[in-house]
Amino acid sequence: MRFGAIEAGGTKFVCGIGNEKGKILKQISFPTTTPEETMEHVYAFFADEKLDAIGIGSFGPIDLHKNSSTYGFITSTPKQHWKNFNFVGEMKKRFSVPIGFDTDVNGAALGELLWGAAKGLDSCLYMTVGTGIGVGAIVEGQLLHGLSHPEMGHIVVKRHPEDPFEGNCPYHQDCLEGMAAGPVVEKRWGRKGMELSDIKDVWELEAYYLAQGLVNYALILSPKKMILGGGVMKQNHLFPLIRKNVKEMLNGYIQKEELLENIEHYIVPPGLADRAGLCGALALAMNALT
Ligand code: ADP
Ligand code: ZN
Repeated sequence: MRFGAIEAGGTKFVCGIGNEKGKILKQISFPTTTPEETMEHVYAFFADEKLDAIGIGSFGPIDLHKNSSTYGFITSTPKQHWKNFNFVGEMKKRFSVPIGFDTDVNGAALGELLWGAAKGLDSCLYMTVGTGIGVGAIVEGQLLHGLSHPEMGHIVVKRHPEDPFEGNCPYHQDCLEGMAAGPVVEKRWGRKGMELSDIKDVWELEAYYLAQGLVNYALILSPKKMILGGGVMKQNHLFPLIRKNVKEMLNGYIQKEELLENIEHYIVPPGLADRAGLCGALALAMNALT
């Protein structure tokens, strides 16, 4: 089978063609500008392809309720051009195949479950720490949805007693995203994250906040694997710091060896590495067929 995949990000789009084994056969990438301009690249890429389905993993917020009049729309995004863009509707006008649509992180979680770090499991969580913090989850084999899609990047966190940074979220100020997303690292320390690799305090504090997120997700959703991707997680030394904080914060409360002796196999980087997003969209295409 041949599937189309669209990883629709706030800064760039990646389109690809792949198969049911999670193999990407070809791909292109272009910057996210206006919907008109950006979508012309998308339509052109898929125009001559014979596809069985197309999957879209999108930045949000998006409307995922099938019976809603705005199903398949990007809704209240601060990216003005994309506000109320009928993503699925515009695709359906041009491609008469099933179209899977979900958040980029829900897609990535599904891709990791099918072909990556959570292969063989029936639950997992995928967190991206990049320009923002997004989290997707599979629970009992199903993508997690509700009233809307979860927005686990915006949970309340406890401020570090020695952290004076006021927070960067336009809605909540010092929520998790407001205290730990990529741009926050730069704002708090005055230099880009990738230039701060050697400064221990930067990553101790980053791990302190990210671990709080993971502790809450572990307590609420009990996923069988937690996968952390995105630009900031390129700082590989964050993983042991996060694991240590998670263990300390849980304090032995969840008596599972995954969280006690084997935490290095529980909180892990994406098995699909930089392909997590695109393979996620591919997984959403497959999901649309079933
Ligand atoms: P997006 O979230 O837009 O999809 P990324 O996941 O690449 O994109 O995240 C971009 C953010 O990650 C930026 O704030 C950037 O400074 C930060 N970032 C990218 N690479 C690194 C790195 N190697 N170390 C620390 N921070 C990084
Ligand atoms: Zn917030």
